Amino acid sequence: MRYQKTLRQLLGAVALLSATPASAANHNTDILAMYSQETINMWGSESAVKAQMRVAFTGANQIFEDSGVDVQLSMIWPQKGIPPATDYQLYDPGVGNSRIHMDLMGTDYVMMVMPLTGGGGFATINGITNVLNPTWGFSGLILAHEYGHSCGASHDRGHSFTGNDGKLYNTAMLVNSVPGGTTIPRMSNRNQFYKGARLGDSFSDMATFMVPRIQAISGFRKLKPQNGPGDLLWSIKNRVTKKVISSYANSLNQGTPITQYDNFGVSSQTWRIVPGTLNNEVVFRSAGSFSKYLGMTSTGNGAGATVEPWSGPYGTFTRFYLETNVRGFTQLKNLNSDKVLYPSGPDNSAQLRQWQDFEQDLTQWSFDTVN
Ligand SMILES: [Zn+2]
Repeated sequence: MRYQKTLRQLLGAVALLSATPASAANHNTDILAMYSQETINMWGSESAVKAQMRVAFTGANQIFEDSGVDVQLSMIWPQKGIPPATDYQLYDPGVGNSRIHMDLMGTDYVMMVMPLTGGGGFATINGITNVLNPTWGFSGLILAHEYGHSCGASHDRGHSFTGNDGKLYNTAMLVNSVPGGTTIPRMSNRNQFYKGARLGDSFSDMATFMVPRIQAISGFRKLKPQNGPGDLLWSIKNRVTKKVISSYANSLNQGTPITQYDNFGVSSQTWRIVPGTLNNEVVFRSAGSFSKYLGMTSTGNGAGATVEPWSGPYGTFTRFYLETNVRGFTQLKNLNSDKVLYPSGPDNSAQLRQWQDFEQDLTQWSFDTVN
């Protein structure tokens, strides 16, 4: 879906964000483009990773354009992400950080560039995520191939044919699945020709087959940030107690504990998540007239320290980041202490505290956009 112009202006890096010049495509899929630390190590720097990713996006878009596939992929806010901890998470954008970041940035799809074993990339059929392997000739061809899977295609939607030069050719969905022949930068299209041969048939016709899923994926993120990242409001619910992070019934003075409480939908229970200068770093602050930051107490910052309202950002004490734990759920960690937040009891008004990461349900939170 078309990205908010204001957000791009806000971020002030249009050239960085936009992988390609505007194309004639009617559909645009905004892709949150993430990469792992291993990928940075492999390619030398984050700017080198972003440059490689831009090349891949440009290549994939060229393939779609040349193949008569009506979509453009846009690389949005390329950033370092935490790789999924388990295989199943590779396929599920609903867990961990990626879904939250997708909502934050208003993207339709998420990709992760990270070393893998056993393939150039993975994507679920009819999914909205893929993983690309930088060690396997990371390219626009692979990106287009994986996006093709997300649009419902298996490899047999590719087309293999002999050109008028007597050589065997395969379209992009057949990458690594047909021995022999040359893979060409095309999707199958029964109305197009290559080396004198038809590029598809009634079954292998990605240009037609992909259309419904392109529309669905490009329209995936209905709720868009209005002005920029962090514009959405969230309630943050504990997985066990089902209560939300709240300042209800508390004074807003610093030193007053932040607690959990039943969700009344009031502004002191809704929060903003603002991307910080470090990747995956977020700053929480509240909505409306309640304008306080979540922060850790500045004294006794060890395990057991309580969360309290701050009138403004105060270094790392008021900065938190989201981390996917080994079970695939999101934890909230303070940047200063690197400890996880949890409610100190099951009931209303239980104080929010930090502790060493003990990977328990109490330390796991879900995030729901409000309204
Ligand atoms: Zn494949």
